[in-house]
Amino acid sequence: MNQSSNPKVAIVTGASRGIGAAIAQRLSADGFAVAVNYASSPALAEALVAQLQAAGGRAIAVRADVASADEVRRMFDTVEQQLGRVDVLVNNAGILKTVPLAEHDDALYDQVFDINVRGTFNTLREAAKRLAEGGRIVNFSSTTLALNMPGYAIYNATKASVEAFTHVFAKELRGRNVTVNAVAPGPIATSLFLDGKTEEQIQAFAKMPPLQRLGQPEDIASVVSFLAGPDAGWVNGQILRANGGLA
Ligand code: NAP
Repeated sequence: MNQSSNPKVAIVTGASRGIGAAIAQRLSADGFAVAVNYASSPALAEALVAQLQAAGGRAIAVRADVASADEVRRMFDTVEQQLGRVDVLVNNAGILKTVPLAEHDDALYDQVFDINVRGTFNTLREAAKRLAEGGRIVNFSSTTLALNMPGYAIYNATKASVEAFTHVFAKELRGRNVTVNAVAPGPIATSLFLDGKTEEQIQAFAKMPPLQRLGQPEDIASVVSFLAGPDAGWVNGQILRANGGLA
């Protein structure tokens, strides 16, 4: 059993797989009760929750499309009812489609902005009302924002928005003792990064950081663990670029 009787509560959005699943595992091991949010992968989310519970943790799976304000509101209601007041919000849910700006259609533009930007806005707005004193918010940017590679204009624009939210929201929460930071990973071996790339392209990305490998979801989960934990209490309004030294 790695939980106290009243564990702190964390919501991790997009935690059914990839980086979010690793964050849920790490925060559970750190002693948090974890809400595993997902949009379209209930089986993966339920399997992760079963795994966390088997290891002695407290966890629930909560479906919500972060792009929907109503669904996000209901997600917070469910988590408060089942786990208690939320201490930590990790805004990990996000999508990446690499398409040159001139070829980007309207529907895809809306989808990427709805999930990456509106999704973060929706959860931040709820968190402003609901997060416990001493709470922590961790948003998700990307190191691609510093690289300016072709195909990333729309995705990078969404992550620039998330970074803007992070800096301003940290100040708007003055007096609440809540920190707001963001992690900006470099390439991490998840389906978001790997899908649609050739082995050659993947190896080219892997060689870019001076540490000469792709990041793993656990590399980012440990950074989130730090930002959500007691040692990061004086870190606020910052973007932490966790990318092996890539940029
Ligand atoms: P991933 O493996 O594709 O996983 C994405 C997760 O987001 C899934 O759990 C998915 O859940 C969830 N999700 C997607 N749309 C959602 C929605 N509308 N509402 C709620 N959940 C939703 O991606 P990842 O690589 O772990 O990326 C996580 C975050 O890191 C993203 O914000 C991404 O931009 C950022 N990032 C990733 C990399 C990288 O190289 N991988 C680098 C920099 C930044 P369902 O399956 O249930 O839909």
